[in-house]
Parts: sequence; C-alpha cells; structure tokens
Amino acid sequence: MELNIYAYKCKRCKHIQYPYRTICRKCGDNDHNEFDIVPMSKKGKLLTFTHLFTLPADYETASLMLGIVELDDGNRITGQLDIDNPKIGMKVKGDVQIVRQELYEKRLGMVFSKM
Ligand SMILES: [Zn+2]
Repeated sequence: MELNIYAYKCKRCKHIQYPYRTICRKCGDNDHNEFDIVPMSKKGKLLTFTHLFTLPADYETASLMLGIVELDDGNRITGQLDIDNPKIGMKVKGDVQIVRQELYEKRLGMVFSKM
C-alpha cells in the first residue's frame, strides 16, 4: 500500500496548502473550512539541506540528512534525504516511510531520493 501525506485543497480557488489552516492562504476567503483532503505531491526541488550527526539515542543510524523540498504543488516540506551527494536545486521524489521507531510507536515521514 502506498502511503501519503495529505494536504488541504481550497474548494473556492483550488489552492493546495499544508499544514491545515482554517483560512485559505491564497484567497484568504475560505472561513468555512471548505477544503478537500488530497494527497500531497511527492515530486519537487531541493531548496536546502543539512547533515545531522547528533541524533537522539533511539535512531538506528549514526547520522542522517534532512532537506527542505518545494513540491510541485507549491508547498514546502521537510524530509529525510536518501541521496549521497545532494545538490541545491536538484529534482527529487518522495516516498512516505517509517523515519523513526520508538518502542510502541512508528513515525512516518517523507524520504526523498534522486529523480
Ligand atoms: Zn482559496
């Protein structure tokens, strides 16, 4: 089963926003919560990234890379990078995966790889 992260599409102007807001960020006119819930785009452009080396003890890796990606729908999202030599501006595609696992809890997030 393909996992998704869901965004909110304004029924008035069709703008897609994430995370949830009670008023549409584009038309500013939607004060009745009239949004359709739609899967977020999984393709975009890498805006910036960082390499983390001091992680909490429950991570099963010594380091990881985080990036901020501008998706094709215009939203920006933070996700892990599964890319050896990331370059700002490169095209990436996302996949929703378990990014952190605690004793009884799995946390999902977007993991980006090269397109
Ligand atoms: Zn709107």
